[in-house]
Amino acid sequence: MSKDSIHHIPTSELKPFREQFTKPITLFGPCSAESEHQVLETALLIAAKFPNNIFRAGVWKPRTRPGSFEGAGDPALQWLIAAGKETGMPVITEVATTQHVEACLKAGIDMLWIGARTTVNPFAVQEIADALRGSGVPVFVKNPINPDLSLWMGAIERLHKAGTDQVFAIHRGFHSFETDVYRYAPRWEIVIDLKTKMPDLKVICDASHISGDPALIPGVAQKALDLDLDGLMIEAHINPAVALSDAKQQITPAVLHTLFEGLVFRKADADDKDFHRKLLELRSRVDSTDDLLLQALITRMNLIRQIGDFKKDKQLTILQIRRWEEILNRQLEHGIGSGLDGVFVKKLYELIHEESIRIQTDLFRNA
Ligand code: PEP
Ligand code: MN
Repeated sequence: MSKDSIHHIPTSELKPFREQFTKPITLFGPCSAESEHQVLETALLIAAKFPNNIFRAGVWKPRTRPGSFEGAGDPALQWLIAAGKETGMPVITEVATTQHVEACLKAGIDMLWIGARTTVNPFAVQEIADALRGSGVPVFVKNPINPDLSLWMGAIERLHKAGTDQVFAIHRGFHSFETDVYRYAPRWEIVIDLKTKMPDLKVICDASHISGDPALIPGVAQKALDLDLDGLMIEAHINPAVALSDAKQQITPAVLHTLFEGLVFRKADADDKDFHRKLLELRSRVDSTDDLLLQALITRMNLIRQIGDFKKDKQLTILQIRRWEEILNRQLEHGIGSGLDGVFVKKLYELIHEESIRIQTDLFRNA
C-alpha cells in the first residue's frame, strides 16, 4: 500500500483515550512487529473497523529456543509510534526487562504488557514495576505459563504497589503436559477464581494463544464473553502465512472482522423485571440444591469414616480397586444416562474418591 492510498482518520473522529477501556476492550494486532510496512498496513486495516482498538505488536519476542525470530527490537518502537499517530489507536508492546521499559517510555509507547514467561518471575516483575513508577502507563499482565493463580495475582499486586493504578489481566492459557486441542489449556476455573478474588480487575482473554489455531479462536472468544470477561486480544497479520512468529494462529484483519461480527455480546444483568424475578427464583433453587449437594457430601464422608474404622479393625487396605471401579461405573452410567457429561462425572468422582482415601489414611495414621 502506498502512502497516498492510506486512509487517514480525521483527528476529530479520534476517540478520547479512556474509551479504549470500555467493554469490550480489544487488543488486536500482529504477534510481532516485522517491518514498518507490515505494522502500518495491519494497523490501518484494523483501525478502519475497530477505531477504539489498542494496537498490539511484540517488539522483543520471548522465544522458547534461541535462533528463531527474536523481534525487530528498538527500531520497531518507532514503527508502532508512527502507526499509532496515523490511526489514532494507542499502541502496546511486551516488556520483560527494565531496558525494555525505559526504551518504551522514551519512545512514548502508550501501554505495556508483561508476557507469560515474565509473570512467573517475581524479581523480573518487581524490576519492571519499579521502572514504571510514576509513568502512569497502563499495564496488562498475562497469566504465568504454569497454572498458579497466586503468581498471577502477585504480579498484579507488585505493579499496584509500585504505583501503576491501571493494571489489567490477560488470560492466555496454561501449559499442560496433557495433549489438548488448545495450544495452551484455558483452565477457565482459574480465571473465574481470579475474578472472584479481584472483582474490580478487568480481564482480557487472549484467544489466539489459547487456541493456537484460527479455527478455535471464535469459540474461545465467545466463551470469554459469556464468562463476562472485559475484552479480547487476537493476533492479526496482513499475511499470516509469512508471519515471522506464530504464523499458525494469526488471521488477517478481514477474517478478524468477520469473526468479531459473529460474536454474541450478552448482558451481565437483565433490565426486564419478570426475567429478573425468574432468574432470582432459579438462583435460589440453585442455592438450595448446592446446600443438598454439600449435605450429601458431609453424609458420605461420615460414612467413609465409619468404613475406615471398620477396615482398620479388620486390617483391610484402604484402596480396593474393584470397589472403586464399581462406584465409578455405577455413577457414570447414571450420570451419562441423565444427560451429564461423562468427563465431568469421572472428574467429580475422582475428586470425591481422593478425599475419601485421604480421610481414611488420616484415620489409619492416627490409630
Ligand atoms: C504474545 O502475545 O505474542 C506472547 C508472546 O504472548 P505470551 O506471553 O502469552 O506467550
Ligand atoms: Mn504471539
